[in-house]
Amino acid sequence: MNFKGSSPKSENITEVEHLVAGEQRARLKGHKGGVFWLTGLSASGKSTLAMSIERELTKLGFHVYVLDGDNVRRGLNADLGFAPEDRTENIRRIGEVAALMADAGLIVITAFISPYREDRDRARKASADKFHELYVAADIETCKKRDPKGLYKKAFAGEIKEFTGIDAPYEAPENPELKLNTGQDDIETCVSQAVDYVKASVALDKS
Ligand code: ADP
Repeated sequence: MNFKGSSPKSENITEVEHLVAGEQRARLKGHKGGVFWLTGLSASGKSTLAMSIERELTKLGFHVYVLDGDNVRRGLNADLGFAPEDRTENIRRIGEVAALMADAGLIVITAFISPYREDRDRARKASADKFHELYVAADIETCKKRDPKGLYKKAFAGEIKEFTGIDAPYEAPENPELKLNTGQDDIETCVSQAVDYVKASVALDKS
């Protein structure tokens, strides 16, 4: 595969070809790999949907794994904060990891606010035609009311700076492959829409 999301610092990089084709991996798994990139405000429902989509698809025999915000920030990206350049680097690394996992044949569901369009576009570039943007759409008032982790409360109290939607921007997707209206529809409806979309996207070509 060609890794196109980020450019290398060193000039002495030569890509080594795999001897296993993507089609072989897909045949073994029974489906293609893909990156299903959930984006939306905090409390819009990304983690809830990602985990339910993972559970439903796993039950059906798909090979799927969720990369979730807080989990990645404890490990791979433990050195990053929430300043704009750190958010960009956070998403860059996740985009590259997701691309590798999808190339390995997995269905990757990512659950990150990923507020900047440019960062999401770079992640799309890293996975090329395997990338799908899923907009988890709930308005800020709904998110503030839900506030399952008490983060909006903290942001309003000035305890969290640069909180998306409060004092940091969220750039909504312009042409997402799928929009999940979590502000209006219930969880089951949104999960089933997403599961149907993923199934159709990773189906093996009939030939
Ligand atoms: P995020 O990961 O985007 O920060 P969470 O999944 O942690 O959001 O929290 C979303 C909250 O909204 C949960 O408490 C969830 O039960 C609730 N919720 C209500 N309706 C929906 C829906 N349609 N989809 C997802 N979550 C919903």
